[in-house]
Amino acid sequence: MERANVVIVGGGVVGCAIARALSARWSDVFVLEALPKIGMGTSTRNSGVIHSGIYYPPGSLKAKLCVRGNRLTYEFCAAHNVPHRNCGKLVVAALDEEIKDLTALMQNGCVNGVEGLAMIDREEIRAREPHVAAKHALLVPSTGIVSAEDLVKAYARVAADRGAHIVTNAKVDRLEPLPDGVRIHSAAGEIEARCLVNSAGLFADEMASLLGSKMAEHRIYPVRGEYCELVRSRQDWVRGLVYPVPHHLRMTLGVHLVKTVWGNVLLGPTAHYVDDKNDYERNRERVEDFAEAAKQLLPELTVADLVPSYTGIRAKLAPPPGASGGTGSANAMTDFIIQRDPEFPQVVQLIGIESPGLTSAAAIAELAENLVREILD
Ligand SMILES: Cc1cc2nc3c(=O)[nH]c(=O)nc-3n(C[C@H](O)[C@H](O)[C@H](O)COP(=O)(O)OP(=O)(O)OC[C@H]3O[C@@H](n4cnc5c(N)ncnc54)[C@H](O)[C@@H]3O)c2cc1C
Repeated sequence: MERANVVIVGGGVVGCAIARALSARWSDVFVLEALPKIGMGTSTRNSGVIHSGIYYPPGSLKAKLCVRGNRLTYEFCAAHNVPHRNCGKLVVAALDEEIKDLTALMQNGCVNGVEGLAMIDREEIRAREPHVAAKHALLVPSTGIVSAEDLVKAYARVAADRGAHIVTNAKVDRLEPLPDGVRIHSAAGEIEARCLVNSAGLFADEMASLLGSKMAEHRIYPVRGEYCELVRSRQDWVRGLVYPVPHHLRMTLGVHLVKTVWGNVLLGPTAHYVDDKNDYERNRERVEDFAEAAKQLLPELTVADLVPSYTGIRAKLAPPPGASGGTGSANAMTDFIIQRDPEFPQVVQLIGIESPGLTSAAAIAELAENLVREILD
């Protein structure tokens, strides 16, 4: 049977970033990915935004890892030719009474260590985004965009160059805890590891359950986000990133506008709980509803300017309102869970890695590396 120092379950952006970090220090690092290619889960079904860290509660893992991850992502992309752009973003307000929300956001961002935040007026908004309707905006210069596919591949490529083994078509279906590690049964065969890293994204709770860990109680509720795109002839309506003021009743940052590195413009993502973690397409939302929501930002928009695009599924730890064990609030801000499993200390668990997981991946990898070091050194 094959033996490894570390097996990482999940070849998404987080698993691949962790493999890159660990392979600099240890040999025999394996990534086991269920699907035929890496990055086919949530990691390539998102907005591709390199977030700044303005939204998250000070001191939370999301705040710390996003701010650090933002810097690390830009550095990594520049060093490895990953398409990206530090275009900045506007959080826009249409009403005077929303200024207090922008101010609160700015203060929160400052406490989190986000640099360069500034309030701008209608004139400057118009100079930056001529088609966007807003009276006030918070300018967030450190936000940017990245090609998520290329980022995942680049993390994996560096890991493989350092000797890591990236194994696809390797769905893990059984885990046996051993006194000094874990035996892992997958579609690609059996392997024993001194350390297991659970980076299975939407399925991380199920992975914890395979181990028999109480950490499986951190249940993941899938929340689908859908996108539309502006038709080609309207792509010049948006130059960068435009977000609405966050609303306390929303469970996300709100439907926003994203000019991707390829020049197309995404609108979305929406947010709806779904029953099935693989349900990407059933009962898609109406383009008319997208148009209605997006008109708040782009008043000229009509239904004819939009076409449906892809969807992604968030790994939410907050249950739907009314669900048993739920807080009753879909808006509850939950944090990333990244820790050694108290019952199985050879295992590092990563659960609830929703947004800003793409941005934070390299910083999550540093944290995971410290935890793996406690196990292996
Ligand atoms: C709509 C949407 C928009 C988002 N926008 C942004 C954004 O703009 N910026 C940002 O920073 N973040 C964003 N996010 C969040 C970000 O995409 C995620 O946090 C990140 O991709 C999580 O990466 P991951 O590697 O943990 O998960 P995944 O990419 O899902 O990877 C997990 C992998 O584990 C594999 N796996 C699962 N079970 C098994 C098993 N049993 N055996 C082997 N392999 C298994 C899966 O196939 C998958 O490839 C967004 C998310 C969504 C849904």
